Amino acid sequence: MPDKPSFRFHPDAYEHDCFEESDEPCAACGRPCVWKYTHHLYALPPEPAAICARCVADGNAARAVPGGDYSLHDCGFDEEPSDALVAEVEQRTPGFATFNPFVWPVRDGMPLAFLGFGEDDNLAALPQVKSAIAALGVEMGGEVAPTYAMIFKTLDGDKYVATLDLD
Ligand SMILES: [Zn+2]
Repeated sequence: MPDKPSFRFHPDAYEHDCFEESDEPCAACGRPCVWKYTHHLYALPPEPAAICARCVADGNAARAVPGGDYSLHDCGFDEEPSDALVAEVEQRTPGFATFNPFVWPVRDGMPLAFLGFGEDDNLAALPQVKSAIAALGVEMGGEVAPTYAMIFKTLDGDKYVATLDLD
């Protein structure tokens, strides 16, 4: 496992500050983190002091939490994917700051990749992002501000889906 693994369901995790450089020892593997996870880990207390990117990527973080049970997100799915994919998203995909529990979109059994929020510099101008936010607005019966729209994209296509993060 490389020190800076990639995450297919959250490809810009490092740009999104899910990790910070640190040589603090990882609570799961005991090695210096190199890239230390910065977000909350949903598990029974006590929360581990530090988890490295390697142990997020391979699920070894389970060794640092009571019962080995944890999630990196407070989310549900709009279609239920396989147990293996649920585990990959919930336990091996870095989380991001949201106000509330949210829905992770799934199409044809495959979770989509989280790209960021509708206001992000690299997303705001994309026509596909704008139409995904407009479609979400129609669904919600009102206009949705890009700052509350979480943007996802299919792994092997270019279908964009926006879901809402209500404050
Ligand atoms: Zn580790």
